Amino acid sequence: MTTLTQSVRTPLVMSLHDGDRTMVDLLGGKGANLAEMTRLGLPVPHGFVITTEACRTYLVDGKEPAELQVLVLERLHELVIEAGRGFGDVADPLLVSVRSGARFSMPGMMETILNVGLTDATLPGLADRGGERFAWDCYRRLTQMYGRTVLGVGADFFEDALARAREARGVADDSGLDADTLRELTAEFRRICVEQGGEDLPQDPHEQLVRSIRSVFESWNGDRARLYRLHEGISDDLGTAVNIIEMVFGNTGPDSGSGVCFTRNPATGAPGAYGDYLPNAQGEDVVNGSRVTLSLDDLDRLQPAVHAELLRHLETLERHYTDVCDVEFTVEDAHLWILQTRVGKRSPAAAFRIAVDLADAGTIDMDEALVRVDGGQLQSLLHPQFAPGGTSDVVATGLAASPGAAVGELVFSSGAAVIVAAQGRKVVLARPETSPDDLAGMLVAEAVITSRGGLTSHAAVVARGLGRACVTGLRDLEIDVREHRIVLQDGAILAEGDVVSVDGSTGEVCRGRRDVRPSPVAAALQATTVLEAPATEDPTAAAVVRLLVHADLRRHLGVRANAETLADAKAAKGFGAQGIGLARTEHMLLGDRRVLVEKVVTDSGRTEALAKIEELTRHDFLEILEEMDGLPVVVRLLDPPLHEFLPDLVDLSTRVAVIEERGQHDAGLEHLLAVVRRWHEVNPMLGLRGVRLLAVVPELLDAQVRALGDAYAELLVRGRNPQLEIMIPLVSDEKELKQARARIESALAEVSARRGLDLTVPIGVMIELPRAALTSGDLARSAEFFSFGTNDLTQTTWGISRDDAETSFLGLYRQQGLLSFDPFDTLDERGVGRLMHISCEEGRAARPALGLGLCGEHGGDPASVRFCADLGLDYVSCSPPRVPVARLEAGRAAVLSERVDAGSDTR
Ligand code: ADP
Ligand code: MG
Ligand code: MG
Repeated sequence: MTTLTQSVRTPLVMSLHDGDRTMVDLLGGKGANLAEMTRLGLPVPHGFVITTEACRTYLVDGKEPAELQVLVLERLHELVIEAGRGFGDVADPLLVSVRSGARFSMPGMMETILNVGLTDATLPGLADRGGERFAWDCYRRLTQMYGRTVLGVGADFFEDALARAREARGVADDSGLDADTLRELTAEFRRICVEQGGEDLPQDPHEQLVRSIRSVFESWNGDRARLYRLHEGISDDLGTAVNIIEMVFGNTGPDSGSGVCFTRNPATGAPGAYGDYLPNAQGEDVVNGSRVTLSLDDLDRLQPAVHAELLRHLETLERHYTDVCDVEFTVEDAHLWILQTRVGKRSPAAAFRIAVDLADAGTIDMDEALVRVDGGQLQSLLHPQFAPGGTSDVVATGLAASPGAAVGELVFSSGAAVIVAAQGRKVVLARPETSPDDLAGMLVAEAVITSRGGLTSHAAVVARGLGRACVTGLRDLEIDVREHRIVLQDGAILAEGDVVSVDGSTGEVCRGRRDVRPSPVAAALQATTVLEAPATEDPTAAAVVRLLVHADLRRHLGVRANAETLADAKAAKGFGAQGIGLARTEHMLLGDRRVLVEKVVTDSGRTEALAKIEELTRHDFLEILEEMDGLPVVVRLLDPPLHEFLPDLVDLSTRVAVIEERGQHDAGLEHLLAVVRRWHEVNPMLGLRGVRLLAVVPELLDAQVRALGDAYAELLVRGRNPQLEIMIPLVSDEKELKQARARIESALAEVSARRGLDLTVPIGVMIELPRAALTSGDLARSAEFFSFGTNDLTQTTWGISRDDAETSFLGLYRQQGLLSFDPFDTLDERGVGRLMHISCEEGRAARPALGLGLCGEHGGDPASVRFCADLGLDYVSCSPPRVPVARLEAGRAAVLSERVDAGSDTR
């Protein structure tokens, strides 16, 4: 019985030989991929994994599972046999790394301790393997990492001591420190451990190991790991695995080194391996940007055989994972070791190019290419970029680590970035290099620039993940964080608060503000008609066009745009919109035309005002319907709260009072005041708007509908093919709808009779109140189509004012974890989505041919588009620049839902 329950229990420890890449939940990403590479026969050092199950138990119970220590000892014993070295053996000691590694990659957010097992007793044995200097270098690193991670000593104590040693020896980086200096440093580090951490580095290798494992468990709950998970939406319950891996050494001399590389360029997507290499270094030196790295070409020059072997393994990995991989590797005395791989993070621009290139190579198909990119990435590519040339004053050029055009004030610390950004100002964070402690500043910065590090440095990796512009390796300038300034090569100074422009696509940093222009992707989309070869030289833009063409082939969901000007209508068509899903007529009547509505409502010069409204509306829609010839145009009748058209009550009262004080009278003004008082509402958002206003002042409806009917008739006469649809806003009841509909029909009949033409104009209703959604069966009897106005529907379902949403308590709610998303950005599927679901079902039951669309801002939000596709809507409608995003997401939704269906068939 006991054996049975034990054998089905989730394992706490597993050898790399027994796992594979599917076991990410248990082994974490790093462990699962190490196991996979072991299976593939790649040169991975021996090791085993303590599973996430053990970590979860530790996190819940506050102590390790009882049997863990024994299991670790058993595996360690096997590792000793495989490695042929003893743990704690004085002659030839086995050292291990103790590495965190969770289900989802959290670059640099948790801890790793290298060289565990090194003590005063084992040091001479290690020196026999790689020399005195090497052994002391390992020892000071262990002391430093152990002190920081296990004993909680501030990193600065060690860094300052290192900086002093470098200065005393007159060397630029740690690789210049000799054996004696490193021995002294190790002693000093151990004093720091005792003084700041309360204890020395343990001299029992097993104690080092056990305490290191525990501190990796605990790093799961470190501040920066929590912040990262919050931002990335990763659950706090997963826990991390701990990888115990035999140490191999990149710091034994010039034939050794460490590197990080990608199978393709992660910033641009260009084919060919890309990476950084550092001779005579342990891996952390590459990532933390503490030394100037070499390229893979340099490695080819230094060690051609190693380079060739590395490229072979990269090819194997890309083929095996069918995607770009990144790899950490170490060379020990001309022998190559692969220490980590995973599917590599990439910039949005690279994501599109890589997906299409892999499809062209036959590695994946176009459906797969489509699901590997997403609307959020496309959105960022549609952002404006810097105009080329101009009078820009380039002060330095570094590595283009993460694309984007950013302008902001210079700040020199994460804390300053947070403070300045909180005042609504844009900031560019400048650091010699970044560390995980800078995450808060990177989150609020427009761009990050560093003087050290390569394309694989912490700054580069994190910025790409966050979609921030980033330039690294700005070697020509000195970023002086103490003095809060940048010293340029010519001695000129950039001070805190100075505005700089950062181009993450070229690596240029400019003094001052540069002009921006539309993105080449947006330009290419506007210049390409559907199914045409991409009209662009830009490889990313070409890839975007091709994936959108594929998305169009696959999707069932239509995409329209919200537009009411000729310019917007043209842009919408250029972006591939299949019509206008929402033309907001009030936008045409605000501004200097506002007074016309005021005249109608206050009954002063009403007839002329109505005639003018009719004439203007006719003219506007003649143009728009002509531009959109053959495509549907949904026109919504006047919607906004009445107060937007009337003068402000307080202003007006004051004006009248002032006149009265002078003993005078202004009859017109007094009449206006009476009307404004009459209609004044404490809560206009819930007041006289939409269909309600049209019921109270039906002459407005008549004028609008006659104008639309006339424009429509005029185009028919001209032999065109207008597709007008009229939509009634803010309906909550069938009777309201019926009355408005009858009035619309009679206005259209009037035009029809006058023109002697048949007008077929579908009439629909906007579903933006819960009551409308819940009585959709009734409404559908009097409507040819529904369109979900999810901005108002969200406001009225949640009872949260959308006009105050930006500044209201929603931010605090999110901080407290009461809300994980903003319902005004991303459709609330559970609440608002459920109302939509009910509305669709009951509406279609009453009228099977009922048209269904959505026209809120959610129509351009990637997650919401997917929901609409799954709900079976006919179309979404969004602002013109978001049309490509909606097309892409609609295509992805079709592919993904087919996969779900296929999956359930085979089960
Ligand atoms: P991270 O998840 O932050 O990348 P890692 O666990 O990969 O942390 O370790 C940090 C660095 O230490 C890496 O650069 C890696 O190459 C190096 N490293 C880890 N384990 C070993 C090992 N067994 N031998 C040599 N270097 C190692
Ligand atoms: Mg790593
Ligand atoms: Mg509305």
